[in-house]
Amino acid sequence: MKKLIGAALALTLAATFVLLPSDGGALERRFIAIGTGGPTGVYFATGNAICRLIHKEAAEGRETGRKHGIRCSAPSTGGSTYNIEQVAKGELDFAVVQSDWQFHAFKGDLPEKVAAVPTLRTVFSVHPEPFHLIVARDSKINSFADLKGKRVNIGSPGSGQRATMKVLMNAHGMTADDFRVATELTSTEQSNALCDGKIDAYGYTVGVPNAGVAVATDGCEARIVSLDGEVEKKLVEDRPYYAFTKIPEGTYQTTDEDVTTFGVMATFVTNEDMDEAVVYEVTRAVMENIDDFRKLHPAFATLDPKEMIAKGLSAPMHPGAEKYYKEKGWM
Ligand code: GLU
Repeated sequence: MKKLIGAALALTLAATFVLLPSDGGALERRFIAIGTGGPTGVYFATGNAICRLIHKEAAEGRETGRKHGIRCSAPSTGGSTYNIEQVAKGELDFAVVQSDWQFHAFKGDLPEKVAAVPTLRTVFSVHPEPFHLIVARDSKINSFADLKGKRVNIGSPGSGQRATMKVLMNAHGMTADDFRVATELTSTEQSNALCDGKIDAYGYTVGVPNAGVAVATDGCEARIVSLDGEVEKKLVEDRPYYAFTKIPEGTYQTTDEDVTTFGVMATFVTNEDMDEAVVYEVTRAVMENIDDFRKLHPAFATLDPKEMIAKGLSAPMHPGAEKYYKEKGWM
């Protein structure tokens, strides 16, 4: 028995030894969770790409001696506003969130749409997310105003898609009552619902291209409608986080010309109280392996670190990220 306890103790000690920092930049074993979005969107790919780079650094570190003990998972979630709330509660360590909801969460000025989180901190931004209005092939919908009297998916509660759709509805002087039916389907359900004839349209803020949208455009010839009228122009003029953008011709089977719409950025955030060393290592893993990152999803193909630390960030930057950018001379 004594022998057994002794062996167990030795094992524990050995494990502790492995987990302890072995150089200045190293960290004890630490599990982090990154909030993403629906499994067919780009956030899910973003979170999992980041985990992959973190694990790659850990594996390489085992050979070169530059060890960190961070292990990572990036589960599917409801999207931006859910993620922000969970980061505030400490249930998620990091999350991918839309730049518009990052802005309002930090300011705390739209509590009915997103929780006020003054402790929200930015790490970097990722890909642009145009707001897509996707309509059934044979529907006569050619503008946002045409949604009146139609069956429209406004998105599930907790999604950034839903919150941004509501902003657009307000700007057009519309409420859910103006639609024949307003559904609350998830980003994964909505394309099939459109192809099955259960809804006429949905609004979705998402990176380009992605599998979820392709189910509708390539699967049942759904169209993406331009949103560049007076109402959208005023939205973009009035709000710092919106910009006009294009979904290029040829992106999907039915994009036979450029679609012009407004959009936001996908951003990577954490909470003020997250360990500086963890944020530093996560930032480092992404930036040192940016070429690998670009290859992990077509929406990441043109990522540029200089833009990633400048665009779409309205909450203050976390000191752990800032430390890395300063070392690189980027700030
Ligand atoms: N922007 C969407 C949201 O916050 C998620 C998009 C995605 O999953 O890529 O609801």
